[in-house]
Amino acid sequence: MKTCSKCGGESDSSGAWCKPCKNKYSKKHRETNREKLIEYARKYREENQEKIKKGRKKFNDNNKIKVNEWVKNWRDRNSEKFKKVRKNYRERHKEKIKEKRRIDTKYCVDSYISALLNKRLKIKFRPPPELIEAKRLQVLINRQLKEN
Ligand SMILES: [Zn+2]
Repeated sequence: MKTCSKCGGESDSSGAWCKPCKNKYSKKHRETNREKLIEYARKYREENQEKIKKGRKKFNDNNKIKVNEWVKNWRDRNSEKFKKVRKNYRERHKEKIKEKRRIDTKYCVDSYISALLNKRLKIKFRPPPELIEAKRLQVLINRQLKEN
């Protein structure tokens, strides 16, 4: 058994320090470093606010078309794959989806009411909240009438 050169205790580690001493040191080292890094990043952000803002805007402006194109291309290339994944998911989670639909219907959640409106008006759009509210009321009233 060797002796740890830091604490003087018994050491079965290959280095000069025992394992607990090594762990303690590296943990402390990591923490100190982390704080330094955070502090450095904070300072940099503070001192370069304008530069960062401009840089980000420039990047977005320069890349807007590129990014949009890339997303579109990716979607086009993967639409078959997407469909398959979705179909697969639906088949594997039939019960879960059914249960979700049941709950959505029962509690007239926004997405359910939106879907009703879309179906009714035969267009795909995101109804304004007031319209959803009105439709929800109508659905609830109709249900009440059916129950009585
Ligand atoms: Zn030690």
